[in-house]
Parts: sequence; structure tokens; C-alpha cells
Amino acid sequence: MMQGGAQSPLQQLTALLGPDGILTDASALEAVNVDQLRAYHGRALCVALPRNTEDVSRVLRLCNALRIPVVPQGGNTGYCGAATPDASGTQVVLSLRRLNAIRSIDPANYSMVVEAGCILADVQRAAAAAERFFPLSLGAEGSCQIGGNLSTNAGGVNVLRYGMMRELTLGLEVVLADGRVLSSLTALRKDNTGYDLRQLFIGAEGTLGVITAASLKLFPAPRASATAFVAVPGPDQAVQLLSHLREASGDQVSSFELIPAVALELVARHISGARSPLAPQSPWFVLCELTSPRADEPLNERLEESLATAFERGLVSDAVLAQNERERRDFWHLRENIPHSQRLEGMSLKHDVSIPIDRLPRFVQRASAWLETHVAEGFLVCYGHVGDGNLHFNLNERRGMPAGALAARRADIRRAIHDLVRDEGGSFSAEHGIGQSKIAELQHYADPVELSVMHTLKRMLDPNGILNPGKVLNVA
Ligand SMILES: Cc1cc2nc3c(=O)[nH]c(=O)nc-3n(C[C@H](O)[C@H](O)[C@H](O)COP(=O)(O)OP(=O)(O)OC[C@H]3O[C@@H](n4cnc5c(N)ncnc54)[C@H](O)[C@@H]3O)c2cc1C
Repeated sequence: MMQGGAQSPLQQLTALLGPDGILTDASALEAVNVDQLRAYHGRALCVALPRNTEDVSRVLRLCNALRIPVVPQGGNTGYCGAATPDASGTQVVLSLRRLNAIRSIDPANYSMVVEAGCILADVQRAAAAAERFFPLSLGAEGSCQIGGNLSTNAGGVNVLRYGMMRELTLGLEVVLADGRVLSSLTALRKDNTGYDLRQLFIGAEGTLGVITAASLKLFPAPRASATAFVAVPGPDQAVQLLSHLREASGDQVSSFELIPAVALELVARHISGARSPLAPQSPWFVLCELTSPRADEPLNERLEESLATAFERGLVSDAVLAQNERERRDFWHLRENIPHSQRLEGMSLKHDVSIPIDRLPRFVQRASAWLETHVAEGFLVCYGHVGDGNLHFNLNERRGMPAGALAARRADIRRAIHDLVRDEGGSFSAEHGIGQSKIAELQHYADPVELSVMHTLKRMLDPNGILNPGKVLNVA
């Protein structure tokens, strides 16, 4: 009890959620205080573990009244420090992990309603059990949550065919800063009744409301697939190959990932048993996949024929098709382990950029040339979802460099790369968001009118500034 009988915020929160709903022990706090890349270290007051939407509503109402900042956190796999509390010791981390029910699946309507704390892989499995497909797929799918996916508008490896999280969402249930519940878990594909409010909360990184549930789109389950690991001379040929495969396959390309030889070397060095299926001579590779809901579709033949034509046109220098599911998984294992291998290799600088696809080869050429001349401290590991024009234009610290040499160049390297991105009509944040790490970039590159509307929305929906302060916008 506080002096005079008034309860402390912690006591009031405990009264709301029960003793097992508020964690203050060191190990619980340690898990939420540090981000995925270990770039941000905060100190939370506590972790709040609501069980349902009503609990979230009551927590926000209380925190809003007491002006206590709330940091929503899903799987804590984000790359921008967006789910990390600050170091003040006053912020409540609101973990959604106990809101993990699949509320309903409607196979006939190709939709499902899930709670925000559902792990992405569990949602995929639940859809598959109903003979449907939820296409969002990314390296962190075993631990990231739907609420985090929505709040970062996550992309991943199937965007080319199915779109980002924004396109996969039919409706949302959101708790507003003052505790009111905005419930729009519609399963409708057509609904033009006024403003589309759900889009405000998708990609808002927890700064406008707390998502508690979502109505998601499903698709026919893929029953046939063909996967190839392909050597290409460069990004230019990769982009042309994508166009060729889309036409030749009748637009059945679901993934198209660009991988440089250096990334495969990192994976081979750090992940036991991981080996490229092709000789390492080529400077660039593509991992591509065709899928179809028709089990009898001859996708392997189609892919093989298309690659043969591409070979004749000089777009491809070598290729191998996965002969079975195990080989397919091995190919994907290589791609999915690139971020992890980069981490094991050492310090890295990440740039998650998107460029209109036709200008992407020129961007890679210009940005690589700039790095060659200006950056001795690091080497380029540029890979990504080229089908969406999205590159992870990352640098790893070169071995033998003094510790911290690359980190000391973070700001000037980032600005130079992002300037080139802007010159080519691209975006400095393709799928990872803004969080804490890119606030200055948003300030610098955003259109002033756009930025001012964002501030207006923030003030309107969260007048006391309790929702994830210090993220996305430059307001405390
Ligand atoms: C190995 C690896 C691979 C990755 N690959 C990709 C990729 O291909 N594509 C991609 O887009 N991302 C990728 N990511 C980044 C990350 O996985 C995604 O951004 C993911 O969507 C984050 O989900 P999360 O549950 O971990 O969210 P968190 O990191 O916990 O939170 C992210 C943001 O969402 C907010 N938030 C979380 N839950 C809620 C909620 N219920 N309501 C309101 N706000 C909320 C947080 O406050 C924070 O601002 C990858 C990460 C890793 C580690």
C-alpha cells in the first residue's frame, strides 16, 4: 500500500488481473526488456498478462487514467525496437500471449477469427487443418504473434502472390487508449460503410490501439508446388527471370527470393549441415516457388521448361529443382537461416528497403558501388523478397576490423543508402516498420503533410500519449 492508503499502480493492476496476471520477477522482465537484435535495453515496471479483451480494456482504462505508458508486445521478434519499453521503469509491457484462441474458422467463407496472441505458425496449422491456407510466412513464424504481424504489417515470403498482412485482414477488434473496444470482426469482402478504420491500426506498431483479435482471409490450400534453386548472373537477370516466370507459369509464382553467394557462405559457416545445392561460383541465386491448389497440376515440368527458356536467354546459368519435400525444405532452410547466420557472424547494419522492381538492379549497382568506395569496415549481404521489390540491404562487420568500427558508421551509411533509395523512388522501411530505430528517417523522408496527419491521428486516438510512446513518431 502507498502512504495514505492509496494503492500503487502495480497494486491496482494486480487487483485487475490477479496475481498471476502481473509479472515483476527478474526473468520475466529480462525477456521483455531487450529487443530481438539486442540493440535496445529497457526497464519495464511489469509485464501485464490479460486473458481476454475485457482485461485489455480494463488495463488501458486504468493506465489512461493514471497516465501510465503501455507497450504492447507480441513475440518480441521485431527488428526496430518497437516492442521494447524505455529505461524509466514506469512502462507496462502488455503481453498478448494469453489471448491465443482461434475463435472460429469458416472454410466456406475462406476466413477465420483469431486472437492477437496466437503464434503465426499455430494460425497456419489451424487453417491447414480446415483444408485452407493462411499465407503469411516468415522466418520468425514459430514465435511471432498475429497482433505483432498486424501491427508491423508484416510481409514475408508469399507477398508476391497474396499480399502483406494489410491485404490479408478482413476485420479487427481493437482496444482504444481509453479502454473502449472497437469491434469490427467482419468477414465481409465488400463493406464500404464509411472510413476503413482497421487500416489505421495495421502497421501502427501499437501506437494507436491494442489489437485483440482479427478476422483473416484464407485461401485454397496449395496441393502442388515446384521449387527451384537457380543461379543467375545478377539482380538484373533475376528481375527479368521473375517477369518471365510469372508469364510462363500463368502467374503461379508465390515466392521469389534473391540470395547472394556471400549469404550462402555465411549460412554454410554457421548452420551445421546447411549446404547450397549449386556450385558456389555464381555471384547470385534465386529461390523460387510455384504453387497451385490443384494436386494434378504439372508444376515441376512447367518450371523446368520455363527455366530452360530462361537459360537460353542468358537469364539463368544453372538450376536445380527440389525432387521431394525434404529437398524443398532444405532449400528454404538456407534462405530462412540468412538473418540468423548474419547475427552469428557478428555485428550488422540492416536496411529494409523497397524499390520499384524495374529500378532495383540499378539501386543495387549504385549502392554497392558507394559501399565499395566508402565503407571498408563491412561487407554487403544483400538478399530479399525481390518479387516485392524488397531488399534487406545489410552489412556485416568485416573480420579483423576494430570492434565497433562498423557501428560507428551507422548513421552516415544509413543516410547514404536511404538517399539512394529515395532517388530510385523507394521506401526506407519495406516491411519492418519504424519502431525506435527509424524515427529520424521518417522525420527526414516523410512528406510533411503526411507526417502532420499522422501526428493529428495520434493526438486524437491517444490524447494522453500512453500507447507505446517514443515509437514511430517523434513524441515522448
Ligand atoms: C528470423 C526473423 C525473420 C523475420 N522475417 C521477417 C519477414 O520476412 N517479414 C517481416 O515483415 N518481418 C520479418 N521479421 C520481423 C518480425 O518477425 C515481424 O515484424 C513480426 O511481424 C513481429 O511480430 P511479433 O509478434 O514478434 O511483434 P513484436 O516484435 O512483439 O512487436 C512488434 C510491434 O507490434 C506491436 N504489437 C505487438 N502486438 C500488438 C498488439 N496486439 N496490438 C498492438 N500492437 C502490437 C508492438 O508494440 C511493436 O510495436 C523477422 C524476424 C526474425 C527474427
